[in-house]
Amino acid sequence: MPRPQGPPKLKRTGLRNPPRLLIRSSDIHAAGCYTLDPIAKNSIIAEYDGPRIPKKVADERYGGRPVTYLFGFGDKGEVIDGFSTAMFLNHSCDANCETEEREERIFIRALRDIAQDEELVYDYHLYDSDLSEEAPCYCGAAACRGTMYSEAELLRRAKLLKRERARSH
Ligand SMILES: [Zn+2]
Repeated sequence: MPRPQGPPKLKRTGLRNPPRLLIRSSDIHAAGCYTLDPIAKNSIIAEYDGPRIPKKVADERYGGRPVTYLFGFGDKGEVIDGFSTAMFLNHSCDANCETEEREERIFIRALRDIAQDEELVYDYHLYDSDLSEEAPCYCGAAACRGTMYSEAELLRRAKLLKRERARSH
């Protein structure tokens, strides 16, 4: 499938007084997203925006790439192909933000008061993974679970592995 020409057209997020955000190098991974303004608990910070594409298309387009900016949402098997500041938020097991789905749009919300210059992070809770792929976490939090997979995904993977091992014996 040919890639669309030029930047995709995005609808305006329409957030009231969003904080000013800065993308710069991060200790967690490559680049990260930092806030230049203090953020109050529960405020909506940004929208995870970008074109919506079927997961199958995303797998074909990005399969095998170590870094992607895909966000699964809704129940139609679609993902957002990240094309906004929010795609630079890193994962952390000790997150200061969470994502919230509203009418098939994804927003980043503050879990607590966040100070100026803090890196914004949320828990990716990755799911639907390939058994051959690992998603190690280097967030450095005291409670780091060592992986970006969700608890449910870890259980699913453990079951699949068991089944695979049983089959090969
Ligand atoms: Zn971690």
